[in-house]
Amino acid sequence: MEDFRARAEELDAADPLRELRDQFVIADPGLIYLDGNSLGRLPKASQDRLSALVDVEWGQQLIRGWHDWIDLPERVGDALGTALLGVAAGQVLVCDNTTVNLYKLALAATQARPGRTVIVTDDDNFPTDRYVLSQLATQQGLEVRTVATPMDDGVQLDAVKRALDQDVALVSFSHTAYRSGALAPMSAIDEAAHSVGALTLWDLSHSVGAVPVDLSRSDLAVGCSYKYLNGGPGAPAWLYVRRDLQTYLGNPIAGWFSQRDQFAMGEEYSPRQDVGRFLTGTPPILGLVCVEEGVRVLAEAGLERLRAKGVALTEFLIELADAWLVEYGVRVATPRDPDRRGSHIVLEHPQAWQLAQALIAAGVIPDYREPNRLRLGPAPAYTRFADVCEGLDRLRTILRTESHTTLPARPTSVR
Ligand SMILES: *Cc1c(COP(=O)(O)O)cnc(C)c1O
Repeated sequence: MEDFRARAEELDAADPLRELRDQFVIADPGLIYLDGNSLGRLPKASQDRLSALVDVEWGQQLIRGWHDWIDLPERVGDALGTALLGVAAGQVLVCDNTTVNLYKLALAATQARPGRTVIVTDDDNFPTDRYVLSQLATQQGLEVRTVATPMDDGVQLDAVKRALDQDVALVSFSHTAYRSGALAPMSAIDEAAHSVGALTLWDLSHSVGAVPVDLSRSDLAVGCSYKYLNGGPGAPAWLYVRRDLQTYLGNPIAGWFSQRDQFAMGEEYSPRQDVGRFLTGTPPILGLVCVEEGVRVLAEAGLERLRAKGVALTEFLIELADAWLVEYGVRVATPRDPDRRGSHIVLEHPQAWQLAQALIAAGVIPDYREPNRLRLGPAPAYTRFADVCEGLDRLRTILRTESHTTLPARPTSVR
């Protein structure tokens, strides 16, 4: 224990991002928060920004505030796209939620491939993606071709290739698998999909802000902003439409915010000729300013440094799991090669639900995912190596004393 604790302290002292934690609200310094991949912490800058927005902009300026608010979806999209997605300005919007954006872009893509009848996705994709694509296919008379994905290893290129032919309109996967952390081979899938003339749509919810992505071969992408981006509960999501596709694809929700001359209130719908055509209605300004602050904090830290720390944190976590937890029946379900995983680690154990409840009681916040999976997301922006060490030490104590076995065996409502 002492060895690992000393190591953690050394790693924290040498961490170039150690001061970044000060930019976040740490209400309870004793709490070990390992769920930044589900809901990121609150940046102090967002507190200030929100109160200024409420008191001054909304409270005093009233409708005049729209002068500054109207451009926020594109302005925050540009900041996010250039700093964290590696794409040029004018291709990302912050709007709606991930589910709605996925629906908009998936429908736009299939309609741009008339005569093609198949959407390819996988059986381990995030539930909202599977539901949206399957319902969309039913509504449009299309078919979903579902690739089998091994839960721990993630999307397999060979299996994807076998599912591709000239009938495929759209190929859609998540980049980081939500219940293993495995990364899908994004560029290789983009290439394979394009070789049969299909479009690609990526869900980057569990990657953005923690894992670099290469969108240079991709067509479309979506993601949420309340995980590593720290935008807060219900903050608007984002979408990416490659520039040359912006006039070629149509937004299936022809809202007035996508209209070319919005305030002319014209008779006919005539959509904008840029990424703004994928807006729908009035954007949620309170959430948008929080996404702007969340992105700013990460952009200043730099994605490369965030990724380097994410790799170091997850390496350390796996090392501790091997040293302390494997003897109690815990299995590391995430790929051990850091190039093949995102920024969270999944530990499998037959009593994972009870362990999650016991951890919460012991002041450690993990995540639980079916089946039997403890998910630990040490977000690189504010998690210390000492937090990982302490969190896993508390888990080891629970396993050793079997204190979790008196807790309810199954989730009543999963969270
Ligand atoms: C978190 C997450 C979502 C969330 O979608 P919402 O519409 O914001 O609820 C979608 N997809 C993936 C892969 C996620 O991890």
